[in-house]
Amino acid sequence: MKSPIKKHTRKESRKDDTHLRVMFDNTNEHAICMLDSKGNIMSWNMSAERLMGYKAKEIIGKNYSLFFSKDEIRRNVVKKALALTVSKGRFSADGIRIRKNGSHFWARSFITPVQPQGKGEMQFVLITQDITKARVIEQKKEEYIGIASHELRNPIHTLSMYSELLGQRLALDADKDNLQTLRDMQAQTARLITLIDDLLLVSKVEGGSMELRQEIFDPVYMAKQIIGDYRNFASVHKIIFKGKLGRLVRADKSRIAQVFINLLTNAVKYSPEADRIIVRVINIAGKSVVSVQDFGSGISPKDQRQIFTRFYRSASAKSGSIAGVGLGLYISKEIIKRHRERIWVKSKAGKGTTFSFTLSLVK
Ligand code: ADP
Repeated sequence: MKSPIKKHTRKESRKDDTHLRVMFDNTNEHAICMLDSKGNIMSWNMSAERLMGYKAKEIIGKNYSLFFSKDEIRRNVVKKALALTVSKGRFSADGIRIRKNGSHFWARSFITPVQPQGKGEMQFVLITQDITKARVIEQKKEEYIGIASHELRNPIHTLSMYSELLGQRLALDADKDNLQTLRDMQAQTARLITLIDDLLLVSKVEGGSMELRQEIFDPVYMAKQIIGDYRNFASVHKIIFKGKLGRLVRADKSRIAQVFINLLTNAVKYSPEADRIIVRVINIAGKSVVSVQDFGSGISPKDQRQIFTRFYRSASAKSGSIAGVGLGLYISKEIIKRHRERIWVKSKAGKGTTFSFTLSLVK
């Protein structure tokens, strides 16, 4: 490894090495090892001994793939991870590792490339953390939220069915005042259901268990259908659609619909003074780009950097009367990220905002 200190006496060097060795061996939580360009283990600290069960003298020289399943070895995961580390400058991933005694644990690994002096072959520092406990807690949390959401959803669903029935009776009686009160109650019930669903999805995203379906569909058709449903609610805004039917994408249709609904809802919510929203679906370079443009107050550059963060709301959104909890964009970003696509925002204060995301076109 390159040392930041240029000239050293031998004695100083030895002292430094000892310090490094002590540091290296006393990182309780982190197993650290050096790998050569092929993934063979060059050094091994005490935490690695404790975590994986191998002593340094039995493991040095062996390939790191020893800790992976047969299937992963067949798929060359170590080699691929090292290649990615070189191309990206850093690599991190969670996965299951196998100890010497055959038991398994959940590992979070970070790999950093190191160019040895004299331009030798690339080496790697690999740091591994045991995250089994955190995973179990996360899974339990997800289970509890799942049960709680289910239990909350059922009575709310029943309430909304009864209120639908009541609405029909009030409409027959032409009782306009009570009908309006009931519609307000229904809007609140719908918000509650969305909130519960969002919280459930957030816990899935964080537990790593959000599953995606691979479906083939026309994004223009999907957008037009949602806009059609939406027109009944968003009476103030005229939603203008620009795009042609005919090109298909591969993605999870209902999750993508959720992203689109989130963006459309925000465009309506955050541009109360404006009278139109433009939705575009254009195809460029193998991608379909879906965008939603509003003519609202816009988002400041500082807020633009943070709005995709969980629970983040701009100061004006928090102080204003627009309801929200700051989960819609976070969820949208996670869904798009899981598809390995891109979502971004362009906005100018006073002029409005455009949110866009990509989908992969089917060849
Ligand atoms: P919520 O709308 O529930 O607050 P979101 O995650 O959907 O949560 O949005 C996060 C924040 O981003 C909002 O609180 C708001 O400050 C800002 N934002 C989102 N969309 C727009 C938009 N179209 N125009 C202006 N601000 C927006």
